[in-house]
Amino acid sequence: MQTAEDLARTLGRIDGRGYKAYQDIAGSYDFGRFQLFIDHVQGDPFAAPTRARVRVAQGLAGFPPRLYASRGRRVGLQDYLTRAFLRAASRYFHPGQGTGKSGLCTVDRPGQEVLERTSAVAGEAYVEVRLSVGLPAAGRTVLGARARVMLCRDLPRTVEESLFYSALDAAAVNAHVELFEDQEALRSQLRDRGLVAFVGAGAVLPRESGVSNRPLVGPQVVAFAPPPSLEVEFQVPNRGRVRGMGIPRGVTLIVGGGYHGKSTLLRAIEAGVYNHVAGDGREWVVTVPGAVKIRAEDGRRVAGVDITPFIGRLPQGVDTASFSTEAASGSTSQAANIMEALEAGATLLLLDEDTSATNFMIRDRRMQALVAKDREPITPFIDKVRQLYLELGVSTVMVVGGSGDYLDVADTVVMMDEYRPRDVTREAREVAAAYPQGRQAEGGQGFGRVAERVPLPQSFDATRGRREKVGAKGRGTVLYGREVIDLSAVEQVADSSQAEGIARLIHYAAERYFDGRTSLRRGLELALSDVESRGLEVLSPFSGHPGDYALPRLFEAAAAVNRLRSLRVRQHGPAGGSPGGPEPRFDKPLP
Ligand code: ADP
Ligand code: MG
Repeated sequence: MQTAEDLARTLGRIDGRGYKAYQDIAGSYDFGRFQLFIDHVQGDPFAAPTRARVRVAQGLAGFPPRLYASRGRRVGLQDYLTRAFLRAASRYFHPGQGTGKSGLCTVDRPGQEVLERTSAVAGEAYVEVRLSVGLPAAGRTVLGARARVMLCRDLPRTVEESLFYSALDAAAVNAHVELFEDQEALRSQLRDRGLVAFVGAGAVLPRESGVSNRPLVGPQVVAFAPPPSLEVEFQVPNRGRVRGMGIPRGVTLIVGGGYHGKSTLLRAIEAGVYNHVAGDGREWVVTVPGAVKIRAEDGRRVAGVDITPFIGRLPQGVDTASFSTEAASGSTSQAANIMEALEAGATLLLLDEDTSATNFMIRDRRMQALVAKDREPITPFIDKVRQLYLELGVSTVMVVGGSGDYLDVADTVVMMDEYRPRDVTREAREVAAAYPQGRQAEGGQGFGRVAERVPLPQSFDATRGRREKVGAKGRGTVLYGREVIDLSAVEQVADSSQAEGIARLIHYAAERYFDGRTSLRRGLELALSDVESRGLEVLSPFSGHPGDYALPRLFEAAAAVNRLRSLRVRQHGPAGGSPGGPEPRFDKPLP
């Protein structure tokens, strides 16, 4: 291994030469207190940045083993190191003094969520941070002296201030790690307590703006106060007792006047599948891992989904047992979104009337009288929501401001009243009894079939031209070969790095598991279990710096496959593969 002096010398030698001369610095360097690995050198100042890593032996870094002993703690520590490095780097690195990305030195930037990501690793042997570096240039000329200041002076300072335990605020590191562990512990207890979500007392749910994930601050903020009848208490390992509102299994309505905070509560519950940093306001909003936000998404593609529980007999004999379309309607898209979530293993559906198709949600008595059932293909959600719970054990939390018919099917009704929740379950029952809605139930004998689908291998082609193209462009777009997958309506994708992780996970599953016999769910489960046993890096095509991405959930990865325009599937029997299910059925190839 070369030394820091060797690196300085090389940079001196190539000063003033063409940008390609930077290729000479690829390699490993011993800086004494840490090692620098320059894994991939960018081809020009505007290209994707140089990928490098800094590694500090744990013997020197000095993090106590308890901070990385379990997965729950390790992910918390890795997140802390990422943020600490970013903080320190912002003091020394000021990109923009030169061409393109000159002067950049950063790591993947986490948001309010604490996710497992490739940005940093911490373990018994070492701590390591994965850098993106913009090697400085004037035009296309190497600025060797400036690169030397970056890599041989400012980088060691950043490392000293962020990757050694003794240089960090020990209380802050421990608190960060312990909060993450507590959130995980709380989430794992929900099921045994018969709950699907928890909203802590004092939580701040509203966000700064529609485009920001940061908490709203100011005197107008109403902190969350649990209604006494729904109050529960949990014991978590570090914080001890936490108190808040428990949302029970079953069907829960969030009702209330417009602008009283209904959607804000639901969005916090959606986000509760992830852990949040201290100060977010939603640190103690925790939801079961199987929670999936469902919405209408007209225009989306659908491939071979059995939507018969909700929709039958479409005009012109269109098959809904294996429903395919290039552009679904509001109601068919919402039905497909539910069936795909169930197929992927959802245990909690989250719906907001603001983003639902009205005719999917309800068909009232008058419409039933005017349009006979045999002219209406849609069985509205109201007739299925109890079957979902009673037969499949799938709970629902939904925002309903307009349709009182839902009072008949609810187990729990929470009213938001000037941002304060009230348990109005009893009043809701009384109202339902006093004003019978007189609808005919249309749900039939049972919920119906949840079909598992098998993606055909030819669905997946990661090449574009002669190169592989697998990645993301922002939070809402996954790029896969020549396909552009729109995830803007898949609301639980946390950030662009997670979108990147989705792309990598799909590609990994396509290369190893989607063989034409393995179901979509199973293939993704196998890929995720490889990640669990061998680390997030298994998804990377690179050795060394793996690239910047975060671990996705199975649901969002499945959602991306489901929106892939090249997806071809066949169905194989009911979900869970119960014997005696129908024979495999092949969908009509899409035009
Ligand atoms: P609804 O869905 O009931 O119509 P929203 O949840 O969209 O209402 O909230 C309406 C507005 O009130 C939003 O601007 C939101 O940020 C704000 N808001 C929500 N909850 C709170 C709260 N607890 N304190 C202060 N403002 C809030
Ligand atoms: Mg709303």
